[in-house]
Formats: sequence, structure tokens, C-alpha cells
Amino acid sequence: MNLTKTFSVDEIGLLLNALQFATTKHRNQQRKSREAIPYINHPIDVMMTLWEVGEIREISTLMAALLHDTLEDTDATEIEILELFGEQVLYLVQEVTDDKSLPKQQRKLNQIESASHKSVAAKQIKLADKTCNIHDIAYLPPDNWSLQQRQDYLDWTIKVVAGLRGTNLALENHYDVTLIQAQTMLSSNVS
Ligand code: ZN
Repeated sequence: MNLTKTFSVDEIGLLLNALQFATTKHRNQQRKSREAIPYINHPIDVMMTLWEVGEIREISTLMAALLHDTLEDTDATEIEILELFGEQVLYLVQEVTDDKSLPKQQRKLNQIESASHKSVAAKQIKLADKTCNIHDIAYLPPDNWSLQQRQDYLDWTIKVVAGLRGTNLALENHYDVTLIQAQTMLSSNVS
């Protein structure tokens, strides 16, 4: 891995564009936690996990991390992403987007079944995404989630992550450590 890689002006411009696009698309959304945290914090956390923990230096992966929830949760279209950010980024975002026409339980099952078939970059994004989510489920839980729902969520990510392993050891270890912390947090939580 080349950690001394330099980025071109075009690459930095694209990354900044992706940040602006995602911020605009998620502008009216907040995480469902007690503190009203702007939704955009989540894609930024995912990107920073890839950058700092995974030492990912592929600009397309970092851009797709910023955009990873735009197709699923905003009015962003595939055409917009294609025109602004190109085919590679669109494919990556599509790979990490659930089919919203399916019922929630089916989507959760599909994530378990499809994880091992994804590209390396999509697996890295999903590893970082699941890690950020279990951290938030433990420390900034959605207001209306019971303890059981939070525990079920952690258990489900274990099954998804099983299909993502062999991709980036640092990201996988970071997930494992975060999972133990989250489980400890939930088991000490009575409400
Ligand atoms: Zn996400």
C-alpha cells in the first residue's frame, strides 16, 4: 500500500464535489438518535474510517463512501452520480445500496447472502459502514429502539461481516474491537 501517494487537483476536486453532493442530498436528514446529529456525519465517519483505519487511498472508494447512502435514502439518482462522478463510483454506490422495493427483512437477508460476492472496494465500504453503525447503535442509539432491537442489529452485522472478511485486516480488526465494546455497552445497559 502506498501511503505517500499524492493526489491530483482533479482527484481532490472530485472528493470535495462528492462531499458537497452528499451534504446537499442529506441536508434535511438527521440520525435517529436522541441528539439530533446531522445525517452527513455518518458518511463522513465511514470515509474517515476507510482513510484512517483501513489506510484506503483509492479516491473512488472514498467518494463512494461519502455517497453510499444517497441512492437509498435521498432523491439522488443513478444518472446524477454517473454524470458527476463516473461509472466506477456509481457501480460502487449501487453495490452498497439495498433494493428498497423489498421488505426490510428480505433486505437484511440479502445483505448477508450477497456480502461475499461484492467487489473488494464495496466490501471495505460495508466493513466501515457496519463498524460506524454498531458504534452508533451502542453509544447514540435511535430513540425508539429497544435493547433487544439493538442487540439484534449487532448480531445481524456479525453475519454480514462474515462475508466481508479477507478484505482489509485493519478494518476487520476495528470492527471486531468495536463490536466487543458495543456488546459490553449494551449488556451494561438496562433500558
Ligand atoms: Zn451507512
